[in-house]
Amino acid sequence: MTLNTARTAADRVVLLNPGPVNVHERVKAAIGSPDECHREPEAQDLLATVGRKVTEVCGGDDTHAAVLLTGSGTAALEAVVSSVVPADGRLLVLDNGHYGERLMRIAEVHRIPVLRLEFGWANPIDLDAVDRALAADPGITHVAAVHHETSTGMLNPVGEIGRLVARHGRSLLVDAISSLGAEDLDIVADHVDWCVGTANKCLEGLPGISFVVASRQRFDRLADIPGRTFYLDLHAHYVSQIGKRTPQFTPALQVLRALDEALDLTMAEGVAARKRRYTDRAEAIRAGLRERGIDLLLPPHQRASSITNAYLSNGMTYDELHDGLKLHGYVIYATQEKSAGVFRLANMGQLTADDITGFFAAFDDVVRQHTAAASPSSPVPAEAAAVSR
Ligand SMILES: *Cc1c(COP(=O)(O)O)cnc(C)c1O
Repeated sequence: MTLNTARTAADRVVLLNPGPVNVHERVKAAIGSPDECHREPEAQDLLATVGRKVTEVCGGDDTHAAVLLTGSGTAALEAVVSSVVPADGRLLVLDNGHYGERLMRIAEVHRIPVLRLEFGWANPIDLDAVDRALAADPGITHVAAVHHETSTGMLNPVGEIGRLVARHGRSLLVDAISSLGAEDLDIVADHVDWCVGTANKCLEGLPGISFVVASRQRFDRLADIPGRTFYLDLHAHYVSQIGKRTPQFTPALQVLRALDEALDLTMAEGVAARKRRYTDRAEAIRAGLRERGIDLLLPPHQRASSITNAYLSNGMTYDELHDGLKLHGYVIYATQEKSAGVFRLANMGQLTADDITGFFAAFDDVVRQHTAAASPSSPVPAEAAAVSR
């Protein structure tokens, strides 16, 4: 698309999509690190360091380890789902949105017996139903859940799910891809046995690296489960990365260097402070939308700190709103298939309060032009006419 020809590459685009995010200068600078070989000690140290920091952000300790994968978040999800369920095991998927459904589809591709509790988009997970499903079926060995269901912006109660699954003696896999770094999550206290995260959402790194954090004991025990994929065999990666201190395949080293920097920034800020920063931005977005009479999808207590789903208004389609805002340098995000008429505004990454103010100035301008174009009798202001398409 040549939509934004008026802007140069140096112009900052404000990303209101749920990752990749606007990153800190130090993160961007890190990808310009010297050329290097992944079999050298400094690359091995990098993997170990990033693994340790990622584990710490998840609330793990020395008894835990992180396997780093080169690939987007879904690569790590597929590695876990395909590697941890034994041949005679069964997976229960808790599905209340696009990413819950993705977990089920990954299991199906690998022919893993899967049971799906479908709560419907934007509906909370019914813990009693989960309790009943686990009690009714002792064959379920693993449960998979999404912490922040990015499709609707709903934060699922990971601690309550974890305690319930632990009480039934099953293992819990959590997709924490869009929560880690900005929401409360502690793999020990929350009984998360397999935690999946990615570099380019609330950890504010660049896209290309994802990871799985679990106890070393659990990783060791994967030796008994035959792999279902070659490239995403979690045990093979673990043996290489943790056991031999060398990556199994060539990792995206420069992206890892950027993630290392991003993790330093995350830990210096602290997850609690980052959550407050995100909440401030989200509240500014929500207040701005409400002031304009725009309805939001979820009740406040169900919302994560980094996404707001809002209904389209002013007779505008998503494409009209998106394209108008893009001309002003703001990128918004569509919803996934099942919530038509809704658009998403994420506030992950290095966004300032001014970015949000600027967004609403652009929003008002786009709406004004659309309204003027829709009623030709009212004169179009010269300034608006100049940029309208
Ligand atoms: C972004 C996201 C993913 C992974 O998407 P990728 O494009 O593979 O990085 C998975 N789950 C959730 C909840 C997400 O928000």
